[in-house]
Amino acid sequence: MHEFSVTQSLIELCEQEAKKNDLKKVYRIHLRLGKFTGFSSESIKFYFNYLKPETRCQDAEITFEEIPIKVQCRACKKTSTIEEPIMLCPECGGTDIEIISGREFYVDSIEGE
Ligand SMILES: [Zn+2]
Repeated sequence: MHEFSVTQSLIELCEQEAKKNDLKKVYRIHLRLGKFTGFSSESIKFYFNYLKPETRCQDAEITFEEIPIKVQCRACKKTSTIEEPIMLCPECGGTDIEIISGREFYVDSIEGE
């Protein structure tokens, strides 16, 4: 259910942006979605389609750019890309790691007219 409130905020944001840029209709929303957020792009799409009628986004589609999780280990200093948000260094098994990317969740651009 986490994606529901996130998608609500997303539509509000796009409405504001559309108003600001004088767009009557939004066609496409480019989203950047870091894997560490744990948000499912399918769920976001689902809620988006449910929430978009009667907004300027009603004909819009979302495209996702998924950003992998990159971590750097403070012990061995190696940078790795991991599939699951598990705070463990794949190189040395250390747990003192820093997330470099993968937390992103933002609108990259909006297309419309
Ligand atoms: Zn390590």
